[in-house]
Amino acid sequence: MSLKLGVIGTGAIGQDHIRRCMQTLSGARVSAVNDINPDSAAGAVEKYAPAARIVVDPHQLIASDEVDAVLVTSWGPSHEEFVLGAIRVGKYVFCEKPLATTAEGCRRIVEAEMKHGKRLVQVGFMRPYDTGYRALKAVLDSGRIGDPLMLHCAHRNPRVGKNYSTDMAITDTLIHELDVLRWLLNDDYVSAQVVFPRHSPKALPHLRDPQIVLLETAKGTRIDVEIFVNCQYGYDIQCEVVGELGIAKLPEPSAVLLRSQAARSEAILTDWKERFIAAYDVELQDFIGGVCEGRLRGPSSWSGYAAAVAADACVAAQGTGAVVPIKLPAQPGFYA
Ligand code: NAP
Repeated sequence: MSLKLGVIGTGAIGQDHIRRCMQTLSGARVSAVNDINPDSAAGAVEKYAPAARIVVDPHQLIASDEVDAVLVTSWGPSHEEFVLGAIRVGKYVFCEKPLATTAEGCRRIVEAEMKHGKRLVQVGFMRPYDTGYRALKAVLDSGRIGDPLMLHCAHRNPRVGKNYSTDMAITDTLIHELDVLRWLLNDDYVSAQVVFPRHSPKALPHLRDPQIVLLETAKGTRIDVEIFVNCQYGYDIQCEVVGELGIAKLPEPSAVLLRSQAARSEAILTDWKERFIAAYDVELQDFIGGVCEGRLRGPSSWSGYAAAVAADACVAAQGTGAVVPIKLPAQPGFYA
């Protein structure tokens, strides 16, 4: 039997997830679609899920008998409302990051889920499903490079739109590192500081780009993450772990090594959808499998909350330049 999915939000990632559910993954189909812009929903349905129904009211979609589980892929500020709506009717929900735009919003979701008594929420942090990050974690967990002492990371995009603001470098961009590095190190953050190098003339005047975020973990590991969202040359994700006994680096995506015109070169991807395409497939297949088995395994509401607590501190640190403490409450046993 095929799991019936209802999708709220048919922008870039909503359409991509509808495509993968209908064309790539198994065990599920998209049965209902909503977007605040009905023409967008109609376009997505026509392109990828012709048998799906367009539902104008997102809460009707959540409650519908035609929907077994919900995918929330609308813009961030609407996530909390839809995730809480799904929990209220006891349905599984996959929510794109951010789980909510504030740590308080994530906390409300955590509390609602715990009150329900069973995990219903998976957050769309896909990097723990990426084969490169998994290989890196296997090396760290093996002890081959000893304890991690320092991490040097970079998150670079070729360019961003005019609505992208300085705080979005944290809440939209760094949020992926905040989740995956916590998972990679099996550690929590205790402080954050943000420093700004010389402004890139390729960035619009209102946007402070690039920025460097400095994090410290409870075990004393120091992390620097360069965020550079107008780097021009590509979508480039870097992560190097310096341990007591050696260095482990996130593998580059595979690319043909080209010898041509007196140069040796490898293409660099420019589109985030391509960089993590396999990880998105595996994360959503895992969600579908988890729903069918009645046991979700992917990033939880607590992961969404932990990332949001750290993000709030980083945004505060952007404003002051000071070291800002990060205080994450102890993880409830419910999420162990
Ligand atoms: P997008 O292209 O702007 O799409 C968002 C869609 O949601 C738009 O069609 C928007 O309609 C619609 N929408 C807004 N408010 C809504 C509401 N209240 N009810 C129903 N639909 C609503 O953005 P996107 O790039 O797809 O991003 C969507 C979410 O996914 C964001 O939270 C983003 O951070 C996340 N995301 C995650 C990843 C990842 O790597 N995991 C990658 C990309 C995006 P209008 O255009 O008419 O406002």
